[in-house]
Amino acid sequence: MKFDVVVIGAGPSGSIAALNSAKKGYKTLLLERGPEPGAKNVSGAMIRESSISQFIDTGGLPYERTVKRVKLIFKSKKGNSVEIKVSPKGERLYTISRLKFDKWLAQKAEESGALLITKTTVLGIEGNKVITERGGVEAEYIIISEGANALLSISQGLRRELKPEETVLGVKEVYSLNKDEVNKRFNLEGDDGEAWRIISDSPLPCAGFVYTYKDSIAIGVGIPLSELKDIKPYEFLDSYKADLSEIIKGFSLREYSAKIIPENGFPSFKACNDRVYVTGDALGLVDPLTFDGIGPAITSGYLASENLGQCEKYESSLLHAKEISKVIKSRPLTKELLKEENLSFYVNLIVDFFNYWSEGDLSKLSYYKSYLGKLLKHITLGLGVIG
Ligand SMILES: Cc1cc2nc3c(=O)[nH]c(=O)nc-3n(C[C@H](O)[C@H](O)[C@H](O)COP(=O)(O)OP(=O)(O)OC[C@H]3O[C@@H](n4cnc5c(N)ncnc54)[C@H](O)[C@@H]3O)c2cc1C
Repeated sequence: MKFDVVVIGAGPSGSIAALNSAKKGYKTLLLERGPEPGAKNVSGAMIRESSISQFIDTGGLPYERTVKRVKLIFKSKKGNSVEIKVSPKGERLYTISRLKFDKWLAQKAEESGALLITKTTVLGIEGNKVITERGGVEAEYIIISEGANALLSISQGLRRELKPEETVLGVKEVYSLNKDEVNKRFNLEGDDGEAWRIISDSPLPCAGFVYTYKDSIAIGVGIPLSELKDIKPYEFLDSYKADLSEIIKGFSLREYSAKIIPENGFPSFKACNDRVYVTGDALGLVDPLTFDGIGPAITSGYLASENLGQCEKYESSLLHAKEISKVIKSRPLTKELLKEENLSFYVNLIVDFFNYWSEGDLSKLSYYKSYLGKLLKHITLGLGVIG
């Protein structure tokens, strides 16, 4: 059987790539190894509507809650913390269930004319042949949207394997209860939602989140792999959760999942050759500090399908797309901030600042004078992100 385009993986980047290439008139096949799109993905997320609505109509998007408050929490080892609440302005943020969201997007691809086949794992690519455990299909163009565990992209020589120091392990738990209880504990009304971003020094420096869904909540944390020498991920999560016990009391654990988050990627890696195009997490287009990956995945999937047969144009369009250049520009700073000693340093600086300020004696911060060099280095990297 021959297709114009075969897309491997029905995550956000694969489905949008299939949707757009079918819309452009290419005979398109979308292959997914899971029993249904989303089934293999880490269960929930927070997304910005604009990152999707620039490509497709978001009417009917199956969101869980509209995020009306984002709480930033800095927590030091000594038990002190600082909380900052912000209300997202001019930007609609949603929490989503990946199972429902990925299914919805894949269905949109089918409605555009793509053929979706699930329960089919691609084992390899040989020339224009995509090999699956059910046999092979021929394709003019192949879009690899396989996610962070990028075995096929590596086998095509487009990128290399990530080193442990370029990898963050994301672990997540989902707890079920009921809508009223979620609303009560987070002081919410109706379908309003709240999201927390937590930068903590305990048990080890890490960046995490709490998301509210309709009748459940998710707790997750990203742990640089280099930190996991003496502690197992679930032990880390247990210790990290200790301070959240009041929030999850009485909830029942529904899911535990773990997945890697790449810290490096395009343009260090190639995004394509004449026939094969790589998108999303397989290209490392995700920010391991903010967990922002679905927007860049969708943008890259769309751009791959727009530029089939024009590899150079695809790579240059990736560099110019706002969602993606944001991730690329942030990488040097994110990498620095994710270092164990730096995460810890900033958590303590912020917590100490507010503590001493409340005591009316900021001179106690003089201890930080010796870190001026570090601060300047990070400010310079920060200017690279906004400039
Ligand atoms: C703990 C955690 C929390 C996160 N939270 C957020 C968040 O709040 N917001 C956000 O924007 N991002 C978040 N992310 C990042 C986000 O999940 C990814 O950036 C996004 O899913 C990337 O989409 P993708 O389509 O590139 O890959 P994926 O979503 O990983 O999809 C890849 C698909 O390909 C399929 N596949 C893989 N190999 C094969 C094969 N050989 N054959 C057939 N099918 C295959 C898989 O089954 C999967 O369905 C989080 C990540 C983690 C780990």
